[in-house]
Amino acid sequence: MSRSPARLVLASRNDAKLVELRRVLSGVGLDISLVGLPDGAEVAETGATFAENALIKARDAVATTGLAAVADDSGLAVDALNGMPGVLSARWSGVSGSRLDRDAANNALLLAQLHDIPDERRGAAFICAAAVVTPAGVERVVTGEMPGRLLRAGRGGGGFGYDPLFLPDGETVTSAQLPAAGKDAISHRGRAFRALAEILPTLL
Ligand code: IMP
Repeated sequence: MSRSPARLVLASRNDAKLVELRRVLSGVGLDISLVGLPDGAEVAETGATFAENALIKARDAVATTGLAAVADDSGLAVDALNGMPGVLSARWSGVSGSRLDRDAANNALLLAQLHDIPDERRGAAFICAAAVVTPAGVERVVTGEMPGRLLRAGRGGGGFGYDPLFLPDGETVTSAQLPAAGKDAISHRGRAFRALAEILPTLL
């Protein structure tokens, strides 16, 4: 008799993340049925770190679905800003509205803040924490990073957020110019999701 696959909920309403995590899980041969979060109120991301926020979201998803849950939280840590915008990356400019409006305002603010910072001090990294929480209360967090540097003007129309400003280490194009699969291979989220896929079989 064949066993039905373990069920896991991803605590996100971002379909792109669901697709990416499914691709990673099946890529390493894991027989896990990953579902999205049902509609409802989103929990406030009040943590001081990416790991805390990922845990807040995963715990909330366990409480609302009764399933084991994974969640991620990510952002940009800029050396010259002592690691900010960090967990405030999504709302750094204070602009609300559409994602495109926020991204444009965030990028404009970041460029202005770094105006006088010379090239050799424009290092930054995208960081992603991915958490898994089970209904039995087992909790694990893994992280992934993509180091690089910030340019003085945006390049490329792919990706989202700060991607047009970000030149990953070892690349000649920004993360907004990389094909999706190329970004997955080196990105903070890709690395965190692959690390998560390694520990999931021991937890589910
Ligand atoms: P979240 O973890 O998806 O909520 O991402 C938080 C914020 O960090 C986003 O709104 C972006 O501003 C920024 N961010 C996270 N990952 C990326 C990325 O891969 N590219 C560009 N910006 C990102």
